[in-house]
Amino acid sequence: MAEETIFSKIIRKEIPSDIVYQDELVTAFRDINAQAPTHVLIVPNKIIPTVNDVTEADEAVLGRLFTVAAKIAEEEGIARNGYRLIINCNKDGGQEVYHLHMHILGGRRLGPMLAR
Ligand code: 5GP
Repeated sequence: MAEETIFSKIIRKEIPSDIVYQDELVTAFRDINAQAPTHVLIVPNKIIPTVNDVTEADEAVLGRLFTVAAKIAEEEGIARNGYRLIINCNKDGGQEVYHLHMHILGGRRLGPMLAR
């Protein structure tokens, strides 16, 4: 069994967070340390620690991350100008919370993809 993180408590609404979307597969909530005017995290409700742990059985939930990202981008008014989707994996990827999540960042010009 994969270990729980703070995100499981957010999904179960055991701790406060600004949830913008939830269904049977995924939950989306605002990042506590926003890096852009819109910074939302979309997470599978089931624990998948990293992209390395993804299997074919997860394809429906992973697809849902994208359809929900597009819906949230539209609702946030950033779809037309654009935005960035990021999934960090493990230490070199900068992953801090070991419950796979997609960042949606937008609302300003984000600049080059990687810090130099
Ligand atoms: P990572 O670096 O793992 O890709 O991103 C983890 C993200 O989770 C960070 O942007 C961080 O600000 C966010 N985060 C960590 N703990 C909490 C929390 O308790 N609530 C919310 N809303 N976001 C969190």
